[in-house]
Amino acid sequence: MVAQELRNLTARLSPSEYLTSEHPSFAKEVEPWSLDADLHPSLLVTPSTLASLQDVVQYLYKTQLDFAIRTTGTGSSSAKDVILSLKGFKEFSFDASSETVTLGAGLAWGEVDQLLEKYADGYAVVGARCPYVGVGGSTLVGGLSWLAHEYGLISDPQNMLDAHVVLNSGHAVWASSAPDLLWALRGGGGNFGVVTSFKLKAHRYTKSIFSGLLTIPYANLSRVSAVVANVAANNPDPKVAMHVFTMNGALGFQEIGGERDIGILVYDANGEEHARSEAGFKWALDMPGCVAQTGVMPLSQVHALALGTGENHGKRVAFMSAPLISDVDEEFLVRAWKWRTDSLKASAALAEDTFVLFEFMQENVFNSTRDRHATAWPHSGRKHVLQLGTGYSPSQASPELKRLALQRLLAAAEEVAGPGKATGEYLPNFFTEAHDIPAVFGENWGELRRVKGKYDPLNRFNKGTLIPPAKSENSTRL
Ligand SMILES: Cc1cc2nc3c(=O)[nH]c(=O)nc-3n(C[C@H](O)[C@H](O)[C@H](O)COP(=O)(O)OP(=O)(O)OC[C@H]3O[C@@H](n4cnc5c(N)ncnc54)[C@H](O)[C@@H]3O)c2cc1C
Repeated sequence: MVAQELRNLTARLSPSEYLTSEHPSFAKEVEPWSLDADLHPSLLVTPSTLASLQDVVQYLYKTQLDFAIRTTGTGSSSAKDVILSLKGFKEFSFDASSETVTLGAGLAWGEVDQLLEKYADGYAVVGARCPYVGVGGSTLVGGLSWLAHEYGLISDPQNMLDAHVVLNSGHAVWASSAPDLLWALRGGGGNFGVVTSFKLKAHRYTKSIFSGLLTIPYANLSRVSAVVANVAANNPDPKVAMHVFTMNGALGFQEIGGERDIGILVYDANGEEHARSEAGFKWALDMPGCVAQTGVMPLSQVHALALGTGENHGKRVAFMSAPLISDVDEEFLVRAWKWRTDSLKASAALAEDTFVLFEFMQENVFNSTRDRHATAWPHSGRKHVLQLGTGYSPSQASPELKRLALQRLLAAAEEVAGPGKATGEYLPNFFTEAHDIPAVFGENWGELRRVKGKYDPLNRFNKGTLIPPAKSENSTRL
């Protein structure tokens, strides 16, 4: 049955629109970020026109074939049978009068940076910070950006204005004509149809951002932890942001063992003078032993600073999680580093891939919508993000090690936030099988299941953000 359906599928496509597993570049083209997610598909389909994509989607929906939608694979998209790649959908247009851009869902954000510089010079969009992340998957899970401190999440209504979607029937619609669909795409993930493009708000933006890496010796951890708590409480400038992280292999640094130094990626869109002042990063630049590799650069170069982490794609078993934190006290980073050390004590095999990345967030990031029902993923209040990773080399993979890696990941919120201080909230960007997805969507879960039941009653779009469809009288073969 599967073999016949695969043959039927390829018969609908031109030879340049698919690759079989025998092709030399197949493995690279379908590789997920984390090897644990690899379901070993046998066919890669890359429709090159809307008509071809529409035909593929309506056909796949009727078959038994297991399929996954893929932009870059950074979200570890994989399937047993077919990968449906959006690589053929890389359109870009800029409308200066409305200050909006239309982006093909198959673009990576690094490509968007280049297109903006070429066709919309002086503008930026609220987009992901890593150039290798796909527009498709990241926008649909809410999406974090350096610009989020000013404008909110990528998929918030003021930023993601519309999305063009191929529904299970093959019909294509702008989601603004179906408000429940547009709502679900704002943080609810990619399981309602196949998005071909997004319309996003563009903002005039500076090209003189002070950014770069500060490396501070581990011996200063307590001091950094105390100052970061003070900054979190007292710096409300939406043009100032930072990531504070353990400098280890998973984040693109050489693995040297032992306690990890403190990396700070600084970001100040007010420019260098401000960044070097008390209102910026003087506190960090003045830390004993601080090594600064900083400069003044446009947003594209800030994004390029993250290119090193992209080297991990398809090389490791990697799990990630991002609890939201509301209370950053003076011991917060000390506990975060301890969480990592304790994880390594539980198994040395976790050393290279276990990291902590604290994302200091300004007020606007999650307080960015009218109310918690305005988008599928409910968000409100001043929160910071504690991004965490665990993982190991594929050569060491075992069920026990996986259990431990997931258990350490889920234990982190309570261990790092402090007893009773975990918010229970998580970004919807990094789900593992251990996450409680209904809890992450909280009060919007019932509505999300209802919308899912309407647009995907058979649950055939079932990768990434898993949402069981509610039974719907109104289900669509629209
Ligand atoms: C190292 C790293 C850095 C990251 N940095 C950021 C960041 O700065 N900001 C941020 O917001 N997120 C970031 N993320 C998280 C990222 O948003 C998710 O991993 C996201 O799923 C990646 O999307 P993708 O399309 O590239 O991945 P893929 O693996 O290709 O897709 C993941 C899932 O997205 C859905 N999907 C993808 N394209 C479509 C489409 N066109 N239509 C419908 N569904 C689709 C599918 O369900 C698919 O299974 C990062 C992740 C990693 C691993």
